Amino acid sequence: MKNKFIIKDIYVKNQKIFYNYEIEGNENFKKLFWLGELFSVEYNENIDNIPKSILAIPLLSNILPIIWVNNAIIYLDEIDKTFYDSIKNIKKVYKKMYSKKIQFKGKIKYHKKVNNYYNTPPEKTITFFSGGVDSYYTLIKRINEKPDLITIWGADIDYENEKGWSVVKDYIENIGNKYNLKNVEIHSALRRFIDNSELEKQYHDILHDNWWHAMQHGIGLIGNAAPYAYKYNVKTIYMPATYNKETTFLCASNPEIENNFKFASTSVLHEGYEANRQQKTEKICNYIKETDDNINLRVCYRSLNGDNCCKCEKCYRTIMAIISQKINPNDLGFHVDKKVLKQIEKSVTKTDMLKNIVAKTMWKDIIKAFKKEEKFWNKYNEIKWILSLKV
Ligand SMILES: [Zn+2]
Repeated sequence: MKNKFIIKDIYVKNQKIFYNYEIEGNENFKKLFWLGELFSVEYNENIDNIPKSILAIPLLSNILPIIWVNNAIIYLDEIDKTFYDSIKNIKKVYKKMYSKKIQFKGKIKYHKKVNNYYNTPPEKTITFFSGGVDSYYTLIKRINEKPDLITIWGADIDYENEKGWSVVKDYIENIGNKYNLKNVEIHSALRRFIDNSELEKQYHDILHDNWWHAMQHGIGLIGNAAPYAYKYNVKTIYMPATYNKETTFLCASNPEIENNFKFASTSVLHEGYEANRQQKTEKICNYIKETDDNINLRVCYRSLNGDNCCKCEKCYRTIMAIISQKINPNDLGFHVDKKVLKQIEKSVTKTDMLKNIVAKTMWKDIIKAFKKEEKFWNKYNEIKWILSLKV
């Protein structure tokens, strides 16, 4: 039986987009979707009067890779013309990345292709913002454009974690108020409407990675911004880069995929790919030195209350990157004392922490930064251990 994803209806009620769909096909395909609650996405403002061809984009962006690898057909009524063309280019990039592991087929059948171009040229910009190093780097770089800040509840903060979200919400709204930027808060079922354990079961051995990281999160996150971007005739959506050109492993959020994402009159820019995490941290530290601005970074995904736990690898590497710039991490939202520094030394030198390829790549740049000022750091007993590490 042919695999089909049939979108029957899309409608908006109380700032939320609802999707009615049915799934047909073989058991393995059907099992990938959790039908206990269908996909939906809610905004912190009115999104009435957005064309259905634009409203379809959040859902489409999150099912396309599943459709392709299952040679399925999506049926829907209306599709945005620009987005339809951009999908072809995005699919080509996925093929290039993964064709040795898996085949990309499938297609979209629609009744009407709609041209949603604006007559007035767009100017406004918006950026995804979580409060981490990549987000702040983009914000500092683009601050003169006064971009709106988009944050998605349902990505790193679980869809149902109201407590965690309320901490993040307060945090990002403070930043919005401080810089006079608008906060766009989106509550999306993007990780909830699919069965992640089933995706793991069927694809982890093929991809050697989880579905979210390898296939979904780039276009999946961006798609959620489409109805809002259409409402305000947005020119560019910035997606802060996590990695850079030195990265050797595959990831679904990369410039080739995301810079091909287009709809109506809006384009996407994968921002900050020119810099590695150490260079981004340096830019943030230099900005603080120049402006005396107070920045509280939010980098930790382990802590459930929205704080930085100061116990995980990501916190450790950010703390050390900041120290390498002679800035006190306690001024940037971390709680660091001699005990924490001792623990970092122990974890780096005596555990498997750096075996992970992502961690390894990033620590290499941190070690290099300390070695640049070997004489200075040799005076500090809590730090000098890092100088003897091999790059
Ligand atoms: Zn942490």
